[in-house]
Amino acid sequence: MDNSYPLVADNLRRVQDRIAAAAVRAGRAADAVTLVAVSKTHPVEAVLAAMAAGQQHFGENRVQEAQTKFPDLRAAHPDMRLHIIGGLQTNKARDAVRVGDVIETLDRARLADAIADAITREGRTPQLLIQVNIGDEPQKSGISRADTDGFVADCRARFGTALAGLMCIPPADEDPAPHFAWLADRAARHGLPIVSMGMSGDYEIAVAQGATHVRVGSAIFGARG
Ligand SMILES: *Cc1c(COP(=O)(O)O)cnc(C)c1O
Repeated sequence: MDNSYPLVADNLRRVQDRIAAAAVRAGRAADAVTLVAVSKTHPVEAVLAAMAAGQQHFGENRVQEAQTKFPDLRAAHPDMRLHIIGGLQTNKARDAVRVGDVIETLDRARLADAIADAITREGRTPQLLIQVNIGDEPQKSGISRADTDGFVADCRARFGTALAGLMCIPPADEDPAPHFAWLADRAARHGLPIVSMGMSGDYEIAVAQGATHVRVGSAIFGARG
C-alpha cells in the first residue's frame, strides 16, 4: 500500500463522522449524505489511499486530468463513481460523457446540446446536475436563479430521469445557509433527488440544509499546490 498519503484515511473518517453527526443533528439519517472526495490536482496515489479506506465517489474539475487519472482505476475498481465538477466547454462534452458517471456542471443550453449529442454518440448516459449560479455572481458559471425553473424543465424534457439534481457554489463572502436552503427547496419542488452543495469550509452547513452530496477536497487530501 502506498503510504505517501498517510493522513487520507484519517481525514476521510473525520469528515465522514462530521457529516453523519451534522445529518443526525438535522434529523436526517446518519448515512443520508454521499461524500464526493475532490481529488483534483492530487496524484493517483492519493486516490488509491482514499479507495483503500473505502471511498467510492471522486470529483475532478478538469476532464483531461480525469481522463489521465481514472481510466485504469475504473477498470480495477468498478464501484468507483467519477463526478465532473468543473466548468465544461462544449468541445469537452464528449470526453466528459465518456469518463464521468455524474456531470455536475450543466449550466447552459449549448452545453445541453453538446451533452445530448455526446450521449447519442457514446451510448452512455451519466447523471446530470444543473449548476446554479446561486449568488448570481458575474464571474461564476451556472444558470441564474431566475432561469433555473425554465432550464430544469427544458433539461428534463430532453434528458428525462438522467437529469438528477442541482449543484451550487455559494458566494465566498456570504452566509451559505440561505443559498443552500434555496437550492434544496428548488430541487424538492422539481422532484430532483440530488442536491450537491458544501465544500471543505461549509459542508456541515450544507448537510443541515439538505445536501445529498458534499464535495470535499482539501479537508481530505490537504491543501492544493
Ligand atoms: C475544488 C472544488 C471543491 C472542493 O473544494 P475544497 O474547498 O478543497 O473542499 C468542491 N467543488 C468544486 C466545484 C470544486 O471545484
